[in-house]
Amino acid sequence: MQLRYNYRVYPTPAQQEALARAFGCARVVFNDGLRIRQSAREDGLPYVSDGELSKRVITEAKKTPERAWLGEVSAVVLQQALADLNAAYRNFFSSLTGERKGRTVAPPRFRSRKDNRQAVRFTANARFKLLDNGRLRLPKIGDLAVRWSRALPADPTSVTIIKDAAGRYFASFVVAAPDQPLPPAGTEVGIDLGLTHFAVLSDGTKIDAPKFLRRAARKLRRLQQDLSRKQRGSANRTKAVVKVARAHARVADTRRDWQHKLSTRIIRDNQAVYVEDLCVVGLGRTRLAKSVHDAGWSQFVGMLEYKAVRAGRTFAKINRFAPSSQTCSTCGRIDGRKPLFVRSWTCPCGSAHDRDVNAAKNILAQGRWESLNACGAQVRPAPLPAPRREAGIRLGAACSTRSVEEISAHMAERMSSELDVLE
Ligand SMILES: [Zn+2]
Repeated sequence: MQLRYNYRVYPTPAQQEALARAFGCARVVFNDGLRIRQSAREDGLPYVSDGELSKRVITEAKKTPERAWLGEVSAVVLQQALADLNAAYRNFFSSLTGERKGRTVAPPRFRSRKDNRQAVRFTANARFKLLDNGRLRLPKIGDLAVRWSRALPADPTSVTIIKDAAGRYFASFVVAAPDQPLPPAGTEVGIDLGLTHFAVLSDGTKIDAPKFLRRAARKLRRLQQDLSRKQRGSANRTKAVVKVARAHARVADTRRDWQHKLSTRIIRDNQAVYVEDLCVVGLGRTRLAKSVHDAGWSQFVGMLEYKAVRAGRTFAKINRFAPSSQTCSTCGRIDGRKPLFVRSWTCPCGSAHDRDVNAAKNILAQGRWESLNACGAQVRPAPLPAPRREAGIRLGAACSTRSVEEISAHMAERMSSELDVLE
């Protein structure tokens, strides 16, 4: 499995200058390539092929006085910038044809020196090298000091050098990491990602983001408000921008560390992990956007997913339209829509439910059901398009045309047969 390993690097002032040059050259090549393709399109000419583009914006451009300085940086850096442009075009085209699923991909945009993130990539061809003294040797940049916070599991195939908005430098290595199977665990878990808690597990555990993280997020919001009051173009605004970027970087780092610990623990303790497919992109456009992004669920789900694969665990996202908080996890009855303030309820069957734990139990049951059916041939795991109306989420094309009653009946039937399977 290909994994990224990130480390802080500390370039000297001279190396920072060389890196700035590399960022600049990569940007120019990317923008030149984009411009050529755009004008070809405007002139009604065919799409400029990858090879032709490389010849024009790198090989031939280097011979002109205006672009002679491209020779000062590693050629691989320039080729990789074009590779990014080509990939951006491919994603855009496959999104247009519907071949690529998910959110529509916009056509590539010009890069700017003011972008929050500057990056250049070196592949093995560029002969970057990890030295015995712990430094990272980059062609035409020098030997960079690296803080090795953990060991690389194998030789990296590429390294990207990133400068973030807070002015920090990172080396991001791509490594083919070997699987690390864990001894079997006896339990399986469903996870409900909620708004009142970061996550609720089907065993009843409720997990909140730690206090220090919430405090840091509050401080970040205050700094952002300060920033919005500063006048455009003023020196004070520039200072405030850096402050916000630093605070933002700190919050993101802390959150990632915490999510790493949590996801490692969940994968270690459970043989199978099921989460609701949240369609975070859809949520991000609603008024819930803020809490969604603060919580960083998609990052967390991504961690669960790759750690499960590496550890040989089962991981699945379950159908996001299953009304997991409306259905009694004991009897399968759908007790109707419940506004968000209803935190607990009792089903006519006598079961008392905590809203979130009940949802997590349903996610677990649905996850088991879906993975059982995925194993058997000929079984069609009928999608269950019951809209999640409760959180004010509007559904687009995925919304069913079936009536609510019909869906409810279908769901009740399915839930009870599912419970039979489990017993
Ligand atoms: Zn019930």
